[in-house]
Amino acid sequence: MSLDDDSLEYHREEPPGKIEIRTTKSTTTQRDLSLAYSPGVAAPCREIADREDDAYQYTAKGNLVGVVSNGSAVLGLGDIGAQASKPVMEGKGVLFKRFADIDVFDIELDHDNVDAFVESVAAMEPTFGGVNIEDIAAPACFTIEERLRERMDVPVFHDDQHGTAIISGAALLNAVDIAGKDMEELSVTFSGAGAAAIATARFFVSLGVPKENITMVDIDGILTTKRAESGDLDPYSREFARDVPQGDVADAIVDADVFVGLSVGGIVSAEMVRSMAEDPIIFAMANPDPEIDYETAKNARDDTVIMATGRSDYPNQVNNVLGFPFIFRGALDVRASEINEEMKVAAAEAIADLARTDVPDAVRKAYGDQPLQFGPEYIIPKPLDPRVLFEVAPAVARAAVESGAARTELDLETYVEDLEA
Ligand code: NAP
Ligand code: MG
Repeated sequence: MSLDDDSLEYHREEPPGKIEIRTTKSTTTQRDLSLAYSPGVAAPCREIADREDDAYQYTAKGNLVGVVSNGSAVLGLGDIGAQASKPVMEGKGVLFKRFADIDVFDIELDHDNVDAFVESVAAMEPTFGGVNIEDIAAPACFTIEERLRERMDVPVFHDDQHGTAIISGAALLNAVDIAGKDMEELSVTFSGAGAAAIATARFFVSLGVPKENITMVDIDGILTTKRAESGDLDPYSREFARDVPQGDVADAIVDADVFVGLSVGGIVSAEMVRSMAEDPIIFAMANPDPEIDYETAKNARDDTVIMATGRSDYPNQVNNVLGFPFIFRGALDVRASEINEEMKVAAAEAIADLARTDVPDAVRKAYGDQPLQFGPEYIIPKPLDPRVLFEVAPAVARAAVESGAARTELDLETYVEDLEA
């Protein structure tokens, strides 16, 4: 059977879909029911009416994330609409649960209009400890996230932007170190100027890459100040417009230390890889086919090419599941009001640091006994490495406390023990 047939059967099997609601308290006696619902339920209601934060104590809010989409940019499927996006949002819920024991309500909103979408999500704040917006087309996704972050007092995180940025940021920290390059002197070329590329470029700046060293290319070529002045660029891609001659990806990649592909497959040639600086770093992350395939890039030249893709069948898979479950875990556990830049940088550094430590045998086995030793073929941990939880969640929680985003204190030592239990 094909993957498609298997998947349809997997989803169709009774009960249809992938998630259900379970009760967490005893419901066997009449007494239980009068505690769970009327009249007993009035007591926690009164407490929360007096002190809103008591919702974390008396309801599921603190472990509940809303995964919200309008279905306008789903996987590689495009604008398939809210209803058709539901399997993906349920699937995101599955990953939150499987990797970080976080519960999810998937919310598919039939809104194309930014204002209506923002109003709907903002009004759901009482329900959730955090909101993950998902698969919303650029540039609307930037406006939506900005406005929701302003309005809401719980974390709002657009994973297609920041998850990608954080994992590739972790990969960059290690790749730069292995290649003996200097963050402050990197020349970086981006193919793509969409949700993932803009967020990743912004994050690379947070990690120390000078903004003026970043060249970005979209389907019409290099983002130049000339294009910006002629009104050809939206406000978000305008941020990365440079005063350079017009050109395409082949022009922009010459002498680059780093190439980041967040565009479409097959647009980079071996010749273009040969035009890059010494020991180049290539993150070709278009899915399902990267901008250049692994072998072609590795074999293009004799020095070391550090290569990452979005694919699981090659080394260095940039997979968002290394980030969002653990970032939300840490944020929820300190009742954070946001996921700020400090928390994102802490997550990237924790992921990068973990790749430098010895990999447990169990993880090596799960990946067919690959060597998995820090170096060009292993710059980021594997998604199924259980240690990611114990490293990333505490790092994010600590950064939340230190940056003032946490609403509770946290004893980090007992926290790590609790996570491991
Ligand atoms: P998006 O918002 O639609 O952005 C795509 C960008 O690529 C647009 O700026 C588009 O230019 C540009 N583009 C299209 N064809 C191009 C070409 N031939 N040359 C240069 N640029 C071109 O999509 P996204 O969400 O950012 O995702 C982009 C890609 O990255 C997808 O393949 C996605 O699967 C992949 N991705 C991978 C990961 C991962 O591996 N972890 C994470 C996120 C995204 P215009 O604006 O001019 O149309
Ligand atoms: Mg997504």
